[in-house]
Formats: sequence, structure tokens, C-alpha cells
Amino acid sequence: MPKSFRKFTDKTIIVASHNKGKVREINALLEPFGIVAKSAAELNLEEPEETGETFAENAELKALTAAKASGLPCLADDSGYSVEALNGDPGIFSARWAGDHKDFALAMQMVECKLQDKDAQEDDERAAAFICALTLAWPDGHVETFEGRVDGTSIWPPKGNNGFGYDPIFRAKGHDRTFAEMDGCEKQKISHRADAFKQLVNACFKAA
Ligand code: IMP
Repeated sequence: MPKSFRKFTDKTIIVASHNKGKVREINALLEPFGIVAKSAAELNLEEPEETGETFAENAELKALTAAKASGLPCLADDSGYSVEALNGDPGIFSARWAGDHKDFALAMQMVECKLQDKDAQEDDERAAAFICALTLAWPDGHVETFEGRVDGTSIWPPKGNNGFGYDPIFRAKGHDRTFAEMDGCEKQKISHRADAFKQLVNACFKAA
């Protein structure tokens, strides 16, 4: 029996994030379905502490907290960079590795130092992925969660000036440039976030 998902039938969705860029991106993705995305900031909703141990747990925590506080269906994501040889680190701590000053040059350097400590030279020893968990939560506590990923290699030195976070050291499988060397449209075609969105849209936004 194929899994059945709860359908989203409202016209407005709350994005449980104060990040304007994320809300803009989500609005563009939902526009074809006649759905308007509003940010948690517009409703003065506070963001909970991310105490989960997985991307999915954190996405669910954020989406459920916002859904219960607003009484409306809410969408939240949690994402990060995961390096196989480092047991999945920085993983759910991706933002925190950059510290309060959001110093991603430092965070990327930490990834590289740890890979060098392991003498990781070949692409397969430097396997990495971006992962994105996306949760749609309803005020009654029901959740639907989808996990998207894109696999590739952690390269050094960093290359490219586009994107954000760990983009300059990530080269997706089958590509010869880093995410930071691609333009936004090119990255969005293959990104972990796009993958999770595709799954969400197919499961919850399209008619059965
Ligand atoms: P959050 O999901 O907003 O908690 O952010 C997770 C962190 O993961 C970001 O601050 C980035 O460091 C990293 N990250 C997530 N997605 C990407 C991406 O597409 N490119 C580069 N870094 C990313």
C-alpha cells in the first residue's frame, strides 16, 4: 500500500523562519498552487531552541511550535552539511560551527583540518552531502516530513563567491564546479532543498 499523506487545503501557510530569503524562496515555489507564504516574524512567533538530534527532529520541532502558537499550518526546514569521514559533522550543528559571527570561512577551514587529520585525499574519502528536512505541521499535531539530499565531495581550497554557508567547498556528484560557482537557478535544480520541496509538493499540494 503506498503511504497516504495529509493534503494541504488552505490558501495561506506560515513559514516558521525569520529568514526573509527563505520565505521569498518558498513563496515562489508555492505560487503555482495559489498559496501565499507568510513568515513567523509577521505573526511575532518566537523561534524555539533547536534541541533535536536529527534534521527531521529539528524541522518538526520548529514547524509544530509555530503551528500550535498560530493555530495555522506551518512549514519549517532544517538543513546542513554532512561529511561522511567526520561521522556526519558538522550536520545539525552546521550553523553553530560558524559561531556567533557567522564565520563560514572558519567553519570550512575546520572541516578541512579534520579531513586532513584523517589524511583524506581521494574523492571517496571526502564524500559529503547537503541535507534538508522539511516539515509541514498542523495545529492538531499532525506532521508530514520529507528529507532531501544532494551528494558530492568536500573540496579544498574553497571556490566561487555565490551562495552561502559551505557552498564554496561542495562539489555535487557529476558536476565540476562548486555550489558557490553556480548561479542560484542552477543550484536550485539539484539542491537538497529543491529535492525536499519536490517530495512535499507531490505528497501534500497536488490533488490525489
Ligand atoms: P538552518 O537550516 O537555517 O538551521 O541552517 C543550517 C546551516 O546549514 C546554514 O547556516 C548553512 O551553514 C548550512 N547550509 C544549509 N543549506 C546550505 C546550502 O544550500 N549551502 C550552504 N550551506 C548550507
